[in-house]
Amino acid sequence: MQKTEQLYEGKAKKVFATEDPAYCIVSYKDDATAFNGLKKGTIAGKGVVNNRMSNFMFQLLEKNGIKTHYVEELNDRETLVRRVKIVPLEVIVRNKAAGSLSKRLGLPEGTPMKTPVLEFCYKNDDLGDPIVNEYHILAAELATKEEVETISAMALKINELMCEFFRSVNVDLIDFKLEFGRCADGTIVLADEISPDTCRFWDIHTQEKLDKDRFRRDMGGVEEAYEEMMKRIGL
Ligand code: UDP
Repeated sequence: MQKTEQLYEGKAKKVFATEDPAYCIVSYKDDATAFNGLKKGTIAGKGVVNNRMSNFMFQLLEKNGIKTHYVEELNDRETLVRRVKIVPLEVIVRNKAAGSLSKRLGLPEGTPMKTPVLEFCYKNDDLGDPIVNEYHILAAELATKEEVETISAMALKINELMCEFFRSVNVDLIDFKLEFGRCADGTIVLADEISPDTCRFWDIHTQEKLDKDRFRRDMGGVEEAYEEMMKRIGL
């Protein structure tokens, strides 16, 4: 299927329409941003890693009964996906404290959570993606109650499947962010990406960081960390 007009350019991806309105093409860039766009940079090869890794994860999830927008990988940086309306929520699942949760609850990074923690943020750059609860979501009509229930159940199931998979390649899944889309018939599917940009991955033995925190925190070895994650998952 051929790209037609560009629909959207985000921080890390471009989205193009296709001849068939039911599909679009996602194109992954090497651009990286952090802290709501305040920090900008490039991570050589990131677009390839994120595209291939995300597609690998979406196929693994599909095999385990999770509906996603994934259709077909077109090349190293581009993927055909189902066209959906993104639910304006960032859905975060956490297994160990890190980042904003560490700050908010005063827990040292790496503190195990007794049960997985599910958080919702309202996807709105101007507001800095504020954290919201189910009352805010229903009151502001960001999603329906049924959608929140579906999304919550899917996110927790995805967490179980991802924890098991990453453990098998000696990676500790600390936390991650998901986005969901509504299909034309109202079905909720997993959308966006699953990559070192959107997950915290720590080596299971050394707890070395293998994700975008190396860029956010100027730790060096950023490209190497993305490459290492590709290698671990066998790509
Ligand atoms: N995350 C993301 N996009 C965002 C915010 C967070 O992909 O806009 C991911 C982040 O990579 C981490 C998880 O969600 O894996 C939890 O992030 P946190 O709330 O701790 O925010 P951060 O510390 O990244 O600002």
